[in-house]
Amino acid sequence: MDEQHVSSNFIRTIIQDDLANGRVQDVYTRFPPEPNGYLHIGHAKAVCLNFEIADEFGGKTNLRFDDTNPTKEEDEYVNAIQEDVRWLGFSWDKLCFASDYFATMYDKAVLLIQKGLAYVCDLTAEQIRQGRGSLTTPGVDSPYRNRTVEENLDLFARMKNGEFADGSKVLRAKIDMASPNINLRDPVLYRIAHAAHHRTGTTWSIYPMYDYAHPLEDALEGISHSLCTLEFEDHRPLYDWVIEACEMVSRPRQYEFARLNITHTIMSKRNLKQLVDEGVVESWDDPRMPTLSGLRRRGYTPESIRQFAKAIGIAKSNSTVDHQMLEYFVREDLKLKALRTMAIVRPLKVVITNWEEGSIEWLDAENNAENEALGMRKIPFGREIYIEQDDFMENPPPKYFRLTKGAEVRLKHAYFIRCEDVIKNEAGEVVELHCTYDPLTKSGSGFSARKVKGTLHFVSCEYAVPAEFRMFESLLLEESPAGSTLLEQVNPHSMEVLSGYVEPGLQHVQPYDKFQFFRHGYFSVDPKWSTNDRAVFNLVVSLKSSFQL
Ligand code: ATP
Ligand code: MG
Repeated sequence: MDEQHVSSNFIRTIIQDDLANGRVQDVYTRFPPEPNGYLHIGHAKAVCLNFEIADEFGGKTNLRFDDTNPTKEEDEYVNAIQEDVRWLGFSWDKLCFASDYFATMYDKAVLLIQKGLAYVCDLTAEQIRQGRGSLTTPGVDSPYRNRTVEENLDLFARMKNGEFADGSKVLRAKIDMASPNINLRDPVLYRIAHAAHHRTGTTWSIYPMYDYAHPLEDALEGISHSLCTLEFEDHRPLYDWVIEACEMVSRPRQYEFARLNITHTIMSKRNLKQLVDEGVVESWDDPRMPTLSGLRRRGYTPESIRQFAKAIGIAKSNSTVDHQMLEYFVREDLKLKALRTMAIVRPLKVVITNWEEGSIEWLDAENNAENEALGMRKIPFGREIYIEQDDFMENPPPKYFRLTKGAEVRLKHAYFIRCEDVIKNEAGEVVELHCTYDPLTKSGSGFSARKVKGTLHFVSCEYAVPAEFRMFESLLLEESPAGSTLLEQVNPHSMEVLSGYVEPGLQHVQPYDKFQFFRHGYFSVDPKWSTNDRAVFNLVVSLKSSFQL
Protein backbone atom coordinates (compact mmCIF):
# COMPACT_ATOMS: atom_id res chain seq x y z
CA MET A 1 0.00 0.00 0.00
CA ASP A 2 1.29 3.44 -0.79
CA GLU A 3 2.89 5.77 1.70
CA GLN A 4 0.39 8.58 1.32
CA HIS A 5 -1.83 6.96 3.95
CA VAL A 6 0.63 7.52 6.79
CA SER A 7 -0.50 10.28 9.11
CA SER A 8 1.54 12.31 11.55
CA ASN A 9 2.57 11.02 14.96
CA PHE A 10 3.65 13.56 17.57
CA ILE A 11 5.10 10.84 19.79
CA ARG A 12 7.79 10.28 17.17
CA THR A 13 8.94 13.91 17.57
CA ILE A 14 9.05 13.56 21.36
CA ILE A 15 11.18 10.43 21.12
CA GLN A 16 13.52 12.02 18.60
CA ASP A 17 14.02 14.96 20.99
CA ASP A 18 14.50 12.69 24.01
CA LEU A 19 17.19 10.74 22.19
CA ALA A 20 18.83 13.89 20.86
CA ASN A 21 19.05 15.62 24.24
CA GLY A 22 20.09 12.47 26.08
CA ARG A 23 17.06 12.02 28.36
CA VAL A 24 16.87 8.45 27.16
CA GLN A 25 19.39 6.14 25.55
CA ASP A 26 17.01 3.34 24.58
CA VAL A 27 13.37 3.42 23.64
CA TYR A 28 11.29 1.04 25.70
CA THR A 29 7.49 0.94 25.50
CA ARG A 30 4.79 -1.35 26.81
CA PHE A 31 1.25 -2.30 25.86
CA PRO A 32 -0.62 -2.68 29.18
CA PRO A 33 -4.10 -4.19 28.78
CA GLU A 34 -6.22 -5.13 31.74
CA PRO A 35 -7.21 -8.80 31.17
CA ASN A 36 -10.90 -8.10 31.76
CA GLY A 37 -12.05 -8.68 28.20
CA TYR A 38 -10.88 -9.20 24.64
CA LEU A 39 -8.94 -6.56 22.73
CA HIS A 40 -10.92 -4.37 20.36
CA ILE A 41 -9.97 -2.29 17.36
CA GLY A 42 -9.27 0.67 19.68
CA HIS A 43 -6.62 -1.37 21.45
CA ALA A 44 -5.09 -2.14 18.05
CA LYS A 45 -4.23 1.53 17.75
CA ALA A 46 -2.31 1.38 21.04
CA VAL A 47 -0.69 -1.97 20.16
CA CYS A 48 0.53 -0.68 16.80
CA LEU A 49 1.74 2.58 18.31
CA ASN A 50 3.74 0.98 21.10
CA PHE A 51 5.32 -1.80 19.07
CA GLU A 52 5.96 0.16 15.89
CA ILE A 53 7.41 3.28 17.49
CA ALA A 54 9.85 1.25 19.59
CA ASP A 55 10.80 -0.79 16.56
CA GLU A 56 11.42 2.34 14.55
CA PHE A 57 14.10 3.41 17.04
CA GLY A 58 15.58 -0.05 17.59
CA GLY A 59 13.83 -0.29 20.95
CA LYS A 60 11.75 -2.88 22.78
CA THR A 61 8.16 -3.38 23.87
CA ASN A 62 6.69 -5.40 26.73
CA LEU A 63 3.27 -6.93 26.81
CA ARG A 64 2.11 -6.27 30.35
CA PHE A 65 -1.10 -7.40 31.94
CA ASP A 66 -2.39 -4.76 34.28
CA ASP A 67 -4.03 -7.28 36.56
CA THR A 68 -4.72 -5.34 39.74
CA ASN A 69 -8.47 -5.91 39.81
CA PRO A 70 -9.00 -9.58 40.79
CA THR A 71 -12.77 -9.76 40.42
CA LYS A 72 -12.78 -8.86 36.71
CA GLU A 73 -9.70 -10.59 35.40
CA GLU A 74 -9.41 -14.06 33.92
CA ASP A 75 -6.87 -16.32 32.26
CA GLU A 76 -9.16 -16.67 29.25
CA TYR A 77 -8.58 -12.98 28.55
CA VAL A 78 -4.85 -13.25 29.21
CA ASN A 79 -4.57 -15.96 26.56
CA ALA A 80 -6.83 -14.27 24.04
CA ILE A 81 -4.92 -10.99 24.32
CA GLN A 82 -1.60 -12.69 23.62
CA GLU A 83 -3.06 -14.44 20.60
CA ASP A 84 -4.44 -11.17 19.25
CA VAL A 85 -1.20 -9.23 19.67
CA ARG A 86 0.73 -12.02 17.94
CA TRP A 87 -1.84 -12.17 15.19
CA LEU A 88 -1.40 -8.46 14.55
CA GLY A 89 2.21 -9.36 13.85
CA PHE A 90 4.04 -8.22 16.97
CA SER A 91 6.34 -10.00 19.39
CA TRP A 92 7.06 -8.62 22.81
CA ASP A 93 10.35 -8.40 24.57
CA LYS A 94 8.97 -9.53 27.94
CA LEU A 95 5.62 -10.86 29.03
CA CYS A 96 4.87 -9.14 32.34
CA PHE A 97 2.12 -9.08 34.92
CA ALA A 98 1.46 -6.25 37.32
CA SER A 99 0.77 -8.97 39.89
CA ASP A 100 4.43 -10.01 39.65
CA TYR A 101 5.28 -6.73 41.37
CA PHE A 102 2.76 -6.91 44.21
CA ALA A 103 5.47 -7.52 46.83
CA THR A 104 7.59 -4.61 45.59
CA MET A 105 4.55 -2.37 45.42
CA TYR A 106 3.74 -3.27 49.00
CA ASP A 107 7.28 -2.46 50.11
CA LYS A 108 7.11 0.88 48.34
CA ALA A 109 3.85 1.66 50.11
CA VAL A 110 5.54 0.92 53.43
CA LEU A 111 8.30 3.31 52.38
CA LEU A 112 5.70 6.00 51.67
CA ILE A 113 4.19 5.49 55.13
CA GLN A 114 7.62 5.71 56.71
CA LYS A 115 8.27 8.97 54.85
CA GLY A 116 4.96 10.36 56.11
CA LEU A 117 3.60 10.32 52.55
CA ALA A 118 0.78 7.81 53.02
CA TYR A 119 -1.83 7.00 55.66
CA VAL A 120 -4.56 4.50 56.36
CA CYS A 121 -7.98 6.11 56.05
CA ASP A 122 -11.23 4.67 57.46
CA LEU A 123 -13.63 6.87 55.50
CA THR A 124 -16.06 5.14 53.17
CA ALA A 125 -15.65 5.51 49.41
CA GLU A 126 -18.55 7.96 49.41
CA GLN A 127 -17.07 10.05 52.24
CA ILE A 128 -13.74 10.17 50.44
CA ARG A 129 -15.46 11.32 47.27
CA GLN A 130 -17.29 14.09 49.11
CA GLY A 131 -14.22 15.16 51.07
CA ARG A 132 -12.27 15.54 47.87
CA GLY A 133 -14.09 18.77 46.97
CA SER A 134 -14.65 20.02 43.46
CA LEU A 135 -12.98 22.11 40.81
CA THR A 136 -14.13 25.23 42.67
CA THR A 137 -13.88 24.08 46.30
CA PRO A 138 -10.82 22.61 48.02
CA GLY A 139 -10.98 19.21 49.66
CA VAL A 140 -11.35 18.58 53.38
CA ASP A 141 -8.69 16.72 55.34
CA SER A 142 -9.61 13.21 56.38
CA PRO A 143 -9.83 12.84 60.18
CA TYR A 144 -7.32 9.99 59.76
CA ARG A 145 -4.78 12.09 57.88
CA ASN A 146 -2.55 12.63 60.90
CA ARG A 147 -2.26 9.09 62.15
CA THR A 148 1.28 8.34 63.31
CA VAL A 149 3.71 6.41 61.15
CA GLU A 150 3.60 3.54 63.66
CA GLU A 151 -0.17 3.34 63.64
CA ASN A 152 -0.22 3.46 59.82
CA LEU A 153 2.43 0.74 59.54
CA ASP A 154 0.47 -1.46 61.90
CA LEU A 155 -2.90 -0.89 60.20
CA PHE A 156 -1.47 -1.37 56.69
CA ALA A 157 0.17 -4.65 57.72
CA ARG A 158 -3.15 -5.80 59.15
CA MET A 159 -4.96 -4.74 55.97
CA LYS A 160 -2.52 -6.98 54.10
CA ASN A 161 -3.09 -9.82 56.54
CA GLY A 162 -6.78 -9.75 55.81
CA GLU A 163 -7.98 -8.52 59.21
CA PHE A 164 -10.40 -5.92 57.82
CA ALA A 165 -13.48 -6.13 55.67
CA ASP A 166 -13.63 -4.92 52.08
CA GLY A 167 -14.15 -1.17 51.93
CA SER A 168 -13.46 -0.57 55.60
CA LYS A 169 -10.04 1.00 55.08
CA VAL A 170 -7.81 2.26 52.28
CA LEU A 171 -4.26 3.48 52.04
CA ARG A 172 -4.10 7.07 50.75
CA ALA A 173 -1.21 9.20 49.57
CA LYS A 174 -0.72 12.33 51.65
CA ILE A 175 -0.28 15.00 49.02
CA ASP A 176 -2.40 18.15 48.97
CA MET A 177 -6.14 18.38 49.70
CA ALA A 178 -6.21 21.86 48.16
CA SER A 179 -4.41 21.00 44.94
CA PRO A 180 -6.10 22.45 41.84
CA ASN A 181 -5.63 18.94 40.42
CA ILE A 182 -8.20 16.76 42.17
CA ASN A 183 -6.11 13.67 41.41
CA LEU A 184 -3.56 14.96 43.92
CA ARG A 185 -6.07 15.34 46.77
CA ASP A 186 -4.84 12.34 48.74
CA PRO A 187 -5.63 9.66 46.13
CA VAL A 188 -6.28 6.09 47.20
CA LEU A 189 -3.26 3.82 46.67
CA TYR A 190 -4.55 0.53 48.03
CA ARG A 191 -7.94 -0.98 48.65
CA ILE A 192 -9.03 -4.11 50.51
CA ALA A 193 -10.50 -6.90 48.38
CA HIS A 194 -10.96 -10.41 49.68
CA ALA A 195 -11.07 -11.91 46.22
CA ALA A 196 -9.16 -14.65 44.46
CA HIS A 197 -6.75 -13.29 41.90
CA HIS A 198 -6.24 -15.21 38.64
CA ARG A 199 -2.52 -15.57 39.38
CA THR A 200 -1.83 -14.82 43.04
CA GLY A 201 -4.89 -16.61 44.38
CA THR A 202 -5.75 -15.52 47.92
CA THR A 203 -2.22 -14.39 48.84
CA TRP A 204 -3.30 -10.78 48.89
CA SER A 205 -6.20 -9.09 50.62
CA ILE A 206 -5.19 -5.66 49.34
CA TYR A 207 -4.73 -4.54 45.77
CA PRO A 208 -3.00 -1.42 44.40
CA MET A 209 -4.94 1.21 42.47
CA TYR A 210 -4.09 1.91 38.83
CA ASP A 211 -2.59 5.36 39.52
CA TYR A 212 -0.17 3.88 42.04
CA ALA A 213 0.57 0.61 40.28
CA HIS A 214 1.08 1.84 36.74
CA PRO A 215 4.04 4.21 37.27
CA LEU A 216 5.75 1.58 39.43
CA GLU A 217 5.25 -1.09 36.77
CA ASP A 218 6.69 1.24 34.14
CA ALA A 219 9.68 2.14 36.32
CA LEU A 220 10.38 -1.48 37.28
CA GLU A 221 10.47 -2.49 33.64
CA GLY A 222 12.63 0.45 32.60
CA ILE A 223 9.97 1.84 30.29
CA SER A 224 11.13 5.11 28.69
CA HIS A 225 7.88 6.28 27.16
CA SER A 226 4.62 5.28 28.80
CA LEU A 227 1.95 5.94 26.19
CA CYS A 228 -1.65 6.11 27.29
CA THR A 229 -4.90 7.70 26.23
CA LEU A 230 -5.92 11.30 26.89
CA GLU A 231 -8.15 10.68 29.89
CA PHE A 232 -4.96 10.11 31.91
CA GLU A 233 -3.54 13.53 31.14
CA ASP A 234 -4.71 14.93 34.50
CA HIS A 235 -3.21 11.93 36.24
CA ARG A 236 0.29 12.67 35.00
CA PRO A 237 1.30 14.79 38.05
CA LEU A 238 0.33 11.84 40.24
CA TYR A 239 2.27 9.47 37.98
CA ASP A 240 5.36 11.65 38.47
CA TRP A 241 4.70 11.97 42.21
CA VAL A 242 4.64 8.19 42.66
CA ILE A 243 7.91 7.72 40.75
CA GLU A 244 9.56 10.46 42.80
CA ALA A 245 8.13 9.59 46.23
CA CYS A 246 8.85 5.87 45.81
CA GLU A 247 12.44 6.74 44.90
CA MET A 248 12.38 4.77 41.68
CA VAL A 249 15.73 4.69 39.90
CA SER A 250 14.26 4.54 36.44
CA ARG A 251 12.30 7.64 35.37
CA PRO A 252 9.62 6.76 32.81
CA ARG A 253 7.49 9.56 31.40
CA GLN A 254 3.85 9.41 30.46
CA TYR A 255 2.54 10.80 27.17
CA GLU A 256 -1.09 10.87 26.17
CA PHE A 257 -2.66 10.39 22.76
CA ALA A 258 -6.25 10.40 21.51
CA ARG A 259 -8.43 7.31 21.82
CA LEU A 260 -9.75 5.79 18.65
CA ASN A 261 -13.48 6.12 18.14
CA ILE A 262 -15.21 4.69 15.08
CA THR A 263 -18.75 5.39 13.93
CA HIS A 264 -21.26 2.58 14.53
CA THR A 265 -18.68 0.81 16.68
CA ILE A 266 -18.73 -0.05 20.37
CA MET A 267 -15.34 0.66 21.84
CA SER A 268 -15.46 -0.45 25.42
CA LYS A 269 -14.77 -3.87 26.84
CA ARG A 270 -17.53 -3.39 29.38
CA ASN A 271 -20.14 -2.80 26.68
CA LEU A 272 -18.80 -5.57 24.48
CA LYS A 273 -18.99 -7.94 27.45
CA GLN A 274 -22.61 -6.92 27.91
CA LEU A 275 -23.36 -7.97 24.29
CA VAL A 276 -21.80 -11.37 24.96
CA ASP A 277 -23.43 -11.83 28.37
CA GLU A 278 -26.89 -10.88 27.10
CA GLY A 279 -26.60 -13.13 24.05
CA VAL A 280 -26.85 -10.32 21.49
CA VAL A 281 -23.84 -11.94 19.84
CA GLU A 282 -22.63 -15.52 20.20
CA SER A 283 -19.22 -14.83 21.67
CA TRP A 284 -16.38 -12.35 21.98
CA ASP A 285 -15.15 -13.49 18.56
CA ASP A 286 -18.52 -13.27 16.83
CA PRO A 287 -17.71 -11.84 13.37
CA ARG A 288 -19.91 -8.82 14.09
CA MET A 289 -17.81 -7.80 17.08
CA PRO A 290 -15.17 -5.05 16.76
CA THR A 291 -12.82 -7.23 18.81
CA LEU A 292 -9.61 -8.29 17.12
CA SER A 293 -10.73 -11.92 17.39
CA GLY A 294 -14.08 -10.98 15.83
CA LEU A 295 -12.42 -9.07 13.02
CA ARG A 296 -10.05 -11.99 12.42
CA ARG A 297 -12.97 -14.40 12.22
CA ARG A 298 -14.86 -12.02 9.99
CA GLY A 299 -11.92 -12.13 7.58
CA TYR A 300 -9.94 -8.99 8.32
CA THR A 301 -6.21 -9.33 7.79
CA PRO A 302 -3.60 -8.06 10.26
CA GLU A 303 -2.07 -6.03 7.43
CA SER A 304 -5.32 -4.16 6.84
CA ILE A 305 -5.60 -3.26 10.53
CA ARG A 306 -2.00 -2.08 10.72
CA GLN A 307 -2.46 0.04 7.59
CA PHE A 308 -5.61 1.51 9.09
CA ALA A 309 -3.73 2.36 12.30
CA LYS A 310 -1.02 4.10 10.26
CA ALA A 311 -3.56 6.08 8.33
CA ILE A 312 -5.46 7.40 11.34
CA GLY A 313 -2.24 8.67 12.89
CA ILE A 314 -1.53 9.65 16.48
CA ALA A 315 -2.88 12.98 17.60
CA LYS A 316 -3.56 14.87 20.78
CA SER A 317 -7.26 15.57 20.25
CA ASN A 318 -10.11 13.09 20.18
CA SER A 319 -12.04 12.49 17.00
CA THR A 320 -14.23 9.84 15.44
CA VAL A 321 -13.24 7.89 12.37
CA ASP A 322 -15.75 6.76 9.74
CA HIS A 323 -16.15 2.96 9.97
CA GLN A 324 -15.88 2.86 6.20
CA MET A 325 -12.22 3.75 6.55
CA LEU A 326 -11.47 0.42 8.20
CA GLU A 327 -13.45 -1.32 5.46
CA TYR A 328 -11.48 0.58 2.85
CA PHE A 329 -8.22 -0.90 4.09
CA VAL A 330 -9.37 -4.52 4.13
CA ARG A 331 -10.80 -4.11 0.64
CA GLU A 332 -7.50 -2.66 -0.53
CA ASP A 333 -5.57 -5.50 1.09
CA LEU A 334 -7.72 -8.27 -0.37
CA LYS A 335 -8.10 -6.75 -3.82
CA LEU A 336 -5.09 -8.49 -5.32
CA LYS A 337 -4.82 -11.40 -2.87
CA ALA A 338 -8.28 -12.95 -3.04
CA LEU A 339 -9.41 -15.37 -5.74
CA ARG A 340 -12.37 -13.95 -7.64
CA THR A 341 -14.98 -16.63 -8.00
CA MET A 342 -18.74 -16.96 -8.32
CA ALA A 343 -21.19 -17.70 -5.54
CA ILE A 344 -24.98 -17.73 -5.58
CA VAL A 345 -26.42 -16.64 -2.25
CA ARG A 346 -30.15 -16.80 -3.16
CA PRO A 347 -30.42 -19.41 -5.91
CA LEU A 348 -32.86 -19.37 -8.82
CA LYS A 349 -32.65 -22.29 -11.22
CA VAL A 350 -32.23 -21.64 -14.93
CA VAL A 351 -32.65 -24.36 -17.58
CA ILE A 352 -30.92 -23.65 -20.87
CA THR A 353 -33.30 -25.46 -23.17
CA ASN A 354 -31.10 -25.54 -26.28
CA TRP A 355 -28.08 -26.93 -24.38
CA GLU A 356 -27.55 -30.62 -24.89
CA GLU A 357 -28.63 -32.66 -21.90
CA GLY A 358 -25.73 -34.19 -19.93
CA SER A 359 -23.14 -32.10 -21.72
CA ILE A 360 -20.71 -29.98 -19.67
CA GLU A 361 -18.26 -27.43 -21.02
CA TRP A 362 -15.27 -26.38 -18.90
CA LEU A 363 -14.71 -22.69 -19.40
CA ASP A 364 -11.48 -20.79 -18.80
CA ALA A 365 -11.55 -18.13 -16.14
CA GLU A 366 -8.81 -15.96 -14.65
CA ASN A 367 -8.60 -16.13 -10.85
CA ASN A 368 -8.03 -12.43 -10.43
CA ALA A 369 -8.24 -10.15 -13.46
CA GLU A 370 -5.94 -7.64 -11.71
CA ASN A 371 -3.34 -10.17 -10.61
CA GLU A 372 -2.23 -12.64 -13.29
CA ALA A 373 0.01 -14.42 -10.80
CA LEU A 374 -3.06 -16.05 -9.28
CA GLY A 375 -3.50 -18.02 -12.51
CA MET A 376 -6.51 -19.54 -14.25
CA ARG A 377 -9.17 -22.09 -13.40
CA LYS A 378 -11.86 -24.07 -15.22
CA ILE A 379 -15.51 -23.59 -14.41
CA PRO A 380 -18.27 -25.92 -15.56
CA PHE A 381 -21.21 -24.79 -17.67
CA GLY A 382 -24.18 -26.98 -18.46
CA ARG A 383 -27.89 -27.18 -19.11
CA GLU A 384 -28.90 -26.25 -15.56
CA ILE A 385 -27.39 -23.35 -13.69
CA TYR A 386 -28.19 -21.18 -10.67
CA ILE A 387 -28.38 -17.44 -10.87
CA GLU A 388 -29.34 -14.94 -8.14
CA GLN A 389 -33.04 -14.51 -7.47
CA ASP A 390 -32.70 -10.76 -7.66
CA ASP A 391 -31.04 -10.94 -11.07
CA PHE A 392 -34.46 -11.64 -12.53
CA MET A 393 -37.52 -9.40 -12.48
CA GLU A 394 -40.85 -10.00 -14.10
CA ASN A 395 -41.88 -6.37 -14.18
CA PRO A 396 -38.62 -4.47 -14.19
CA PRO A 397 -38.28 -0.73 -13.72
CA PRO A 398 -36.75 1.30 -16.56
CA LYS A 399 -33.01 0.81 -17.09
CA TYR A 400 -33.05 -2.67 -15.59
CA PHE A 401 -30.20 -4.50 -17.28
CA ARG A 402 -30.54 -7.88 -15.71
CA LEU A 403 -32.76 -10.77 -16.75
CA THR A 404 -36.41 -10.33 -17.63
CA LYS A 405 -38.67 -12.18 -20.00
CA GLY A 406 -37.46 -11.69 -23.57
CA ALA A 407 -34.25 -9.93 -22.54
CA GLU A 408 -30.67 -11.05 -23.05
CA VAL A 409 -27.77 -10.92 -20.60
CA ARG A 410 -24.16 -12.07 -20.57
CA LEU A 411 -23.10 -14.83 -18.17
CA LYS A 412 -19.67 -14.16 -16.72
CA HIS A 413 -16.98 -16.28 -18.46
CA ALA A 414 -19.73 -17.99 -20.55
CA TYR A 415 -22.47 -17.11 -23.08
CA PHE A 416 -25.36 -14.75 -23.69
CA ILE A 417 -28.69 -16.18 -22.58
CA ARG A 418 -32.22 -15.01 -23.32
CA CYS A 419 -35.15 -15.61 -21.03
CA GLU A 420 -37.97 -17.39 -22.87
CA ASP A 421 -40.23 -18.69 -20.12
CA VAL A 422 -40.95 -18.11 -16.45
CA ILE A 423 -42.08 -21.07 -14.34
CA LYS A 424 -44.07 -20.35 -11.16
CA ASN A 425 -45.32 -22.44 -8.27
CA GLU A 426 -48.90 -22.50 -7.00
CA ALA A 427 -48.21 -19.47 -4.84
CA GLY A 428 -47.25 -17.55 -7.94
CA GLU A 429 -43.55 -17.36 -7.05
CA VAL A 430 -40.94 -17.67 -9.75
CA VAL A 431 -39.16 -21.01 -9.27
CA GLU A 432 -37.39 -21.58 -12.54
CA LEU A 433 -36.51 -19.82 -15.77
CA HIS A 434 -36.24 -21.33 -19.19
CA CYS A 435 -33.63 -19.66 -21.33
CA THR A 436 -31.78 -20.22 -24.58
CA TYR A 437 -28.10 -19.52 -25.14
CA ASP A 438 -26.34 -18.26 -28.24
CA PRO A 439 -23.32 -20.47 -29.07
CA LEU A 440 -21.67 -17.63 -31.00
CA THR A 441 -21.36 -15.43 -27.92
CA LYS A 442 -18.81 -17.35 -25.89
CA SER A 443 -16.75 -15.16 -23.63
CA GLY A 444 -13.30 -14.45 -25.07
CA SER A 445 -14.34 -15.47 -28.58
CA GLY A 446 -14.20 -11.90 -29.84
CA PHE A 447 -17.91 -11.89 -30.53
CA SER A 448 -19.11 -8.32 -30.95
CA ALA A 449 -22.23 -8.39 -33.09
CA ARG A 450 -24.55 -7.68 -30.14
CA LYS A 451 -24.05 -5.73 -26.97
CA VAL A 452 -25.79 -6.42 -23.69
CA LYS A 453 -25.55 -4.25 -20.63
CA GLY A 454 -25.94 -6.82 -17.87
CA THR A 455 -23.41 -9.45 -16.83
CA LEU A 456 -24.65 -12.03 -14.36
CA HIS A 457 -22.75 -14.65 -12.40
CA PHE A 458 -23.85 -18.27 -12.17
CA VAL A 459 -22.94 -21.69 -10.81
CA SER A 460 -23.54 -24.96 -12.69
CA CYS A 461 -26.18 -27.02 -10.83
CA GLU A 462 -24.45 -30.29 -11.44
CA TYR A 463 -21.18 -29.13 -9.89
CA ALA A 464 -22.53 -26.62 -7.39
CA VAL A 465 -21.12 -26.95 -3.88
CA PRO A 466 -23.69 -26.08 -1.19
CA ALA A 467 -22.51 -23.31 1.09
CA GLU A 468 -23.82 -20.96 3.72
CA PHE A 469 -23.32 -17.23 3.67
CA ARG A 470 -23.45 -14.89 6.62
CA MET A 471 -24.24 -11.35 5.60
CA PHE A 472 -23.53 -8.69 8.19
CA GLU A 473 -24.63 -5.18 8.93
CA SER A 474 -23.36 -2.87 11.60
CA LEU A 475 -24.20 -3.98 15.16
CA LEU A 476 -25.28 -0.47 16.05
CA LEU A 477 -28.15 1.45 14.53
CA GLU A 478 -26.79 4.78 15.75
CA GLU A 479 -23.52 6.36 14.75
CA SER A 480 -22.30 6.54 18.33
CA PRO A 481 -23.73 4.52 21.21
CA ALA A 482 -24.93 6.13 24.43
CA GLY A 483 -24.07 3.71 27.24
CA SER A 484 -27.25 3.00 29.19
CA THR A 485 -29.47 2.31 26.21
CA LEU A 486 -26.93 0.14 24.45
CA LEU A 487 -29.26 -2.81 23.92
CA GLU A 488 -31.94 -0.61 22.37
CA GLN A 489 -29.44 0.56 19.82
CA VAL A 490 -28.51 -2.89 18.63
CA ASN A 491 -29.37 -3.51 14.99
CA PRO A 492 -31.81 -6.48 14.92
CA HIS A 493 -30.67 -7.26 11.36
CA SER A 494 -26.96 -7.40 12.05
CA MET A 495 -26.73 -10.94 10.64
CA GLU A 496 -28.55 -12.72 7.83
CA VAL A 497 -27.96 -16.40 7.13
CA LEU A 498 -28.31 -17.51 3.50
CA SER A 499 -27.96 -20.88 1.80
CA GLY A 500 -26.62 -21.13 -1.69
CA TYR A 501 -23.80 -22.49 -3.81
CA VAL A 502 -20.20 -21.90 -4.75
CA GLU A 503 -18.07 -23.15 -7.63
CA PRO A 504 -16.67 -26.71 -7.48
CA GLY A 505 -13.16 -25.33 -6.95
CA LEU A 506 -14.28 -24.27 -3.48
CA GLN A 507 -15.15 -27.77 -2.34
CA HIS A 508 -12.23 -28.04 0.07
CA VAL A 509 -11.77 -24.59 1.54
CA GLN A 510 -9.98 -24.01 4.83
CA PRO A 511 -10.88 -21.66 7.69
CA TYR A 512 -9.89 -18.07 6.89
CA ASP A 513 -9.55 -18.73 3.12
CA LYS A 514 -10.61 -15.52 1.42
CA PHE A 515 -12.51 -14.96 -1.81
CA GLN A 516 -14.03 -12.20 -3.78
CA PHE A 517 -17.45 -13.39 -4.85
CA PHE A 518 -18.30 -11.63 -8.08
CA ARG A 519 -20.73 -8.75 -7.42
CA HIS A 520 -21.17 -9.68 -3.73
CA GLY A 521 -18.02 -8.75 -1.90
CA TYR A 522 -15.12 -10.27 -0.02
CA PHE A 523 -15.80 -13.40 2.01
CA SER A 524 -13.77 -15.47 4.46
CA VAL A 525 -14.35 -19.05 5.60
CA ASP A 526 -15.58 -19.11 9.19
CA PRO A 527 -13.54 -21.37 11.49
CA LYS A 528 -16.38 -22.21 13.89
CA TRP A 529 -19.61 -22.32 11.94
CA SER A 530 -18.20 -24.32 9.01
CA THR A 531 -18.66 -28.09 9.09
CA ASN A 532 -17.07 -30.84 7.02
CA ASP A 533 -20.16 -30.88 4.83
CA ARG A 534 -20.70 -27.22 4.43
CA ALA A 535 -18.43 -24.20 4.52
CA VAL A 536 -19.76 -20.99 6.00
CA PHE A 537 -18.56 -17.83 4.30
CA ASN A 538 -18.56 -14.59 6.28
CA LEU A 539 -19.06 -11.35 4.41
CA VAL A 540 -15.93 -9.35 5.20
CA VAL A 541 -16.87 -6.26 3.25
CA SER A 542 -18.89 -5.34 0.19
CA LEU A 543 -17.09 -4.54 -3.05
CA LYS A 544 -17.67 -0.85 -3.30
CA SER A 545 -18.38 2.17 -1.20
CA SER A 546 -18.58 5.87 -1.80
CA PHE A 547 -15.93 6.40 0.89
CA GLN A 548 -12.81 8.22 -0.26
CA LEU A 549 -9.58 8.58 1.66
P1 ATP B 1 -11.90 -0.38 27.80
O1 ATP B 1 -12.63 0.80 28.34
O2 ATP B 1 -12.40 -0.86 26.50
O3 ATP B 1 -11.77 -1.48 28.82
P2 ATP B 1 -9.33 0.44 28.57
O4 ATP B 1 -8.61 1.66 28.17
O5 ATP B 1 -9.84 0.36 29.95
O6 ATP B 1 -10.44 0.16 27.51
P3 ATP B 1 -7.08 -1.24 28.85
O7 ATP B 1 -7.04 -2.71 28.88
O8 ATP B 1 -6.74 -0.50 30.07
O9 ATP B 1 -8.50 -0.84 28.31
O10 ATP B 1 -6.23 -0.69 27.64
C1 ATP B 1 -4.91 -1.06 27.33
C2 ATP B 1 -4.30 0.03 26.49
O11 ATP B 1 -5.07 0.25 25.31
C3 ATP B 1 -4.28 1.34 27.25
O12 ATP B 1 -3.00 1.93 27.09
C4 ATP B 1 -5.35 2.15 26.60
O13 ATP B 1 -5.04 3.50 26.65
C5 ATP B 1 -5.37 1.61 25.17
N1 ATP B 1 -6.69 1.78 24.56
C6 ATP B 1 -7.86 1.29 25.00
N2 ATP B 1 -8.88 1.69 24.23
C7 ATP B 1 -8.34 2.47 23.26
C8 ATP B 1 -8.87 3.20 22.15
N3 ATP B 1 -10.17 3.22 21.89
N4 ATP B 1 -8.00 3.87 21.37
C9 ATP B 1 -6.69 3.86 21.63
N5 ATP B 1 -6.13 3.20 22.66
C10 ATP B 1 -6.93 2.51 23.47
MG1 MG C 1 -10.14 -0.46 31.61
